[in-house]
Amino acid sequence: MIVFDLECSQGHVFEGWFENLEAYEDQRARGLIICPFCEDAQVKRILSPVAVKKAVPARQDLPEGHIDYKRLAREVVEYVHHNFEDVGPQFTSEALKMHYGVVERRNIRGAATEKEEKLLKEEGVDFFKLPLPKGDPEKKN
Ligand SMILES: [Zn+2]
Repeated sequence: MIVFDLECSQGHVFEGWFENLEAYEDQRARGLIICPFCEDAQVKRILSPVAVKKAVPARQDLPEGHIDYKRLAREVVEYVHHNFEDVGPQFTSEALKMHYGVVERRNIRGAATEKEEKLLKEEGVDFFKLPLPKGDPEKKN
């Protein structure tokens, strides 16, 4: 059973109990729902505040705070792939050259050994590491 708040055309408000929504629609269509105050059969359902709230379309977005990290990583890798010059194993020397103004600064990508990474950090060179997706033919260790 469900209960609806109903209102007649005269503005009388009353409760109606029904088997389900279909039963309500059916009885209303056949004029079987009558206002207990004035016997008016022109009855409509009043949306309760809860029902009004539910009527707002549900957001299709992902819940707040949920980030698809795998996708994000893929997009970052893709971006770097297209916008950064691949200098391969020359990464550290190129980065240092840029750092000291020997060559013009540009976006580069490449590979660095742990030792080279340490050197770059010591020199204060900004760089970041990306986990390359498995199966990337350019993967260098
Ligand atoms: Zn009425």
